[in-house]
Amino acid sequence: SAAVECRGVTVRFVTDRRTVTALRDVSMAVEAGGFLSLLGPSGCGKSTLLRVVADLVKPSAGDVSVFGMAPAAARAARTLGFVFQDAALLPWRTALQNVELPLEVGGRRELPKGAPTPRELLKLVGLEGWENSFPHELSGGMRQRVSIARALLGGPRLLLMDEPFGALDEITRDRLNEELRRVWQETGTTILFVTHSVYEAVFLGEQVLVLAANPGRNAALVTVDLPRD
Ligand code: ADP
Ligand code: ADP
Repeated sequence: SAAVECRGVTVRFVTDRRTVTALRDVSMAVEAGGFLSLLGPSGCGKSTLLRVVADLVKPSAGDVSVFGMAPAAARAARTLGFVFQDAALLPWRTALQNVELPLEVGGRRELPKGAPTPRELLKLVGLEGWENSFPHELSGGMRQRVSIARALLGGPRLLLMDEPFGALDEITRDRLNEELRRVWQETGTTILFVTHSVYEAVFLGEQVLVLAANPGRNAALVTVDLPRD
């Protein structure tokens, strides 16, 4: 069954100066456990689509379901984890304390049964031994690993990633792409991954959704299913 399904999603932002059509009539579906790359140039609406799925933006038209729920219900059920381009770690907290953060601010006091512990999540992203390091003691790649571990706290069924490696050098990015593929395979989490890198989209994705450069004028859009050996 579909983890995420969008049908005819249109998003318009109305400001006092003008109306921007950020997405126009976008449809897509991702199976549970799938990996979809959202690819397109800057401004084509990739972040907006991710934010619609996360219930941070309401579509002007169209339907969205996340594991059969409306986005608001999926968000309330803590089905989602979100990773942004900036790791946004709290500098006065250690790596481990940053991963634990959602337990304190998210209203959830304990992890669901069977969910990996913060320590296990740091190990999963390759940071065993760095639990007590502070963000300034970690490289950019390591900081982003921490933010991935934090997003995986509570065992979300869906991980939304908005250009998570966009600020990293190419070598670090390649390494993290390999790690992310392993994490995806080990956890079975469904992933939506935003990038403007064709290479990254194709390396990671089972499917690539290509968004048109100008959604206001051109709704052209395809999903490519990539063959895997
Ligand atoms: P991408 O992630 O592909 O770079 P975005 O989804 O961020 O694209 O933006 C798509 C379009 O919507 C852009 O033209 C952007 O300026 C506009 N946009 C995004 N968010 C808002 C907002 N909150 N208010 C007004 N316009 C917005
Ligand atoms: P990543 O691919 O996670 O960004 P780097 O290539 O930046 O990792 O770092 C490679 C290795 O260098 C790390 O695994 C770590 O052992 C070490 N390292 C990186 N930053 C620091 C630091 N601030 N202090 C000590 N060792 C570090």
